[in-house]
Amino acid sequence: MFEQQILPEKPSRPQPASRRVWLAAAVALPLMVTFGAYGVAEFGPREAVAVTPVTEALTPPELISRVATTPFWREEVIRSGDTLSALIVRLGIDDEAASAFIRSDASARPLYELRAGRVLRAQTTAEGKLLQLRYMAADSTQLQLLATSEDFVVKQAPAALTRETAFKAGTITSSLFGATDRVELPDEVTRQLIEIFEGEIDFHRKLKKGDRFGVVFETYTLDGQVIKTGRILAAEFVNGGRKLQAVWYESQPGEGAYFSLKGESLKKSFLQTPVEFSRISSGFATRFHPVLHTWKQHKGIDYAAPTGTRIRAASDGIVTHAAYSSTYGNVLEIKHQGVYSTLYAHLNRFAPGLKAGQRVRQGDIIGFVGTTGRSTGPHLHYEFKISGNQVDPTKLDLPRNQSLDVREFARFRPHAEQLNAQLNLLARVELARAD
Ligand SMILES: [Zn+2]
Repeated sequence: MFEQQILPEKPSRPQPASRRVWLAAAVALPLMVTFGAYGVAEFGPREAVAVTPVTEALTPPELISRVATTPFWREEVIRSGDTLSALIVRLGIDDEAASAFIRSDASARPLYELRAGRVLRAQTTAEGKLLQLRYMAADSTQLQLLATSEDFVVKQAPAALTRETAFKAGTITSSLFGATDRVELPDEVTRQLIEIFEGEIDFHRKLKKGDRFGVVFETYTLDGQVIKTGRILAAEFVNGGRKLQAVWYESQPGEGAYFSLKGESLKKSFLQTPVEFSRISSGFATRFHPVLHTWKQHKGIDYAAPTGTRIRAASDGIVTHAAYSSTYGNVLEIKHQGVYSTLYAHLNRFAPGLKAGQRVRQGDIIGFVGTTGRSTGPHLHYEFKISGNQVDPTKLDLPRNQSLDVREFARFRPHAEQLNAQLNLLARVELARAD
């Protein structure tokens, strides 16, 4: 089922009758999402995905000599704290030779790296003699233990992952991470969601109760199990009643970005906030007001965040200054294109190796929040300057990156509109389910 694709280890609970109706609707929809998402992928990320179907090569039939008339396949989801011996019992394996091999043979070691939520599959004879055991050991390696006429053999090969798309939507009641946790949106996808919209939304200060998001993203599955997540293909975020939309588009293979439905780049020339919005910093902000002082009080913006929170370069530029001062503590300044520069103060430390003269790209980690210099608690003091004079960046309409040109927009639009229509439909279903 669609929801279970995301976190399949969750056992499905019986649903109340009223929810079943909506689940049925949701089940019918993934096909459409898949279709739409692949539509975009035609000129997009599909090329970048190396999915090698090698499962067949793993199972040379001549290796299986103990051919049973009725081979049984069983599977067990690994629980936290599970041991291999417990799983062997649950899988119905009653085979001393197999157990001895697994215990003693070095090639069987990866089987001991059990990860909760993953699945172990076993094929046995009716009597419980092991024919084969399959396990996804690392992210893209499938491990296979096969019975031979003499003994057992372990094979490892890249798994044949299937690329699929998934959809999640949620509403913020207390915090963004509270909402993403509730709908089981993987953190890696949440991180991308923040990155896509942070040019438009000040996640530290402007999230509101009732804000909503919807995301269509790639998943890679093996036998119906999600092994990893991929890229967000389309997303929307309603912030304070303002609806923002993003669609992934690659103008050339490997060179992609997110655009609004109108073809405008969602990336701005400067980040709204240089303090990384993470699970840690957002938790902090809910307990303490994130802004200690306003612009008026001291010509800068203060972001309260736990010591060690990552600070990013607001835009591309060159580090002109990185040193200690008694008031600013560890402070660094970056000169950007044209008349712009930015200053970051009270850092606990600079990024390793960072020094004056260095070139940085927007989003690069340049240091970590601290409370050095004249400071009463961990925070980042951030100044935005035009020709050396501090200005309030929240009052400026900063330039965006380039929009799609007419020719590109003509290619982009039908796919973007299709994805968006599906996003809207799924979001409505999801909202109705939540009610
Ligand atoms: Zn300050």
